[in-house]
Amino acid sequence: MSFASQGFGPEIVRAVTECGYDKMTPVQRKAIPAARKGRDILANAQTGTGKTAAFALPILQQLQDSPKMQQGRQVRALILAPTRELAAQIAANCRDYAKHTELSVAVVYGGTKMSSQTAALHAGVDLLVATPGRLLEHVAENNVSLSQVEHLVLDEADRMLDMGFASELTRIMKLVPPKHQTMLFSATYPPKMKQLATQALSNPVVVSV
Ligand code: AMP
Repeated sequence: MSFASQGFGPEIVRAVTECGYDKMTPVQRKAIPAARKGRDILANAQTGTGKTAAFALPILQQLQDSPKMQQGRQVRALILAPTRELAAQIAANCRDYAKHTELSVAVVYGGTKMSSQTAALHAGVDLLVATPGRLLEHVAENNVSLSQVEHLVLDEADRMLDMGFASELTRIMKLVPPKHQTMLFSATYPPKMKQLATQALSNPVVVSV
């Protein structure tokens, strides 16, 4: 199955081609058609399976399809990840996928100064990748609003729970509008994950690879 067959526009197809992607990986074949329809997704994919493109490409295309780039551009897609390394990697991939679009991608994570992240947030961001604690620090300082979020991804959700981010995730989910698309990726599915999935997802398509 090719990326062009999934209704991706020329900007995204060109970027994917430049990344050297020819065919979809199994998680992409299963998740992308449902994600393109706006469905919630629960997927058990691990790193290395192509899961980043599986959630990022449908989100970027949906942002492209309904541009809202007037004044005061606010975050419309939020991707949460457990560590700064993973957040930085996701943001780098998203920038590659979005490079022929006008969409702007930013990343915020802990362990580094707030100020350069704050400047990027103030400049206007369409898609934000974040670790949960640092995101809430920026929310507390009014550097970013989550009131326009339409797409939420919880990546490596089991690791976020293992790292003690459960209450941060709950707080963040209360800050985004009730009506949004959520995709949850987790390598394992312990009971506390089931609780999070129930809280976060509405009638999800289950993707198993
Ligand atoms: P991920 O699981 O998202 O960390 O992706 C693992 C690696 O697979 C990354 O280097 C991606 O650039 C690459 N990748 C993702 N999708 C494809 C694809 N359809 N074809 C070839 N490589 C891919």
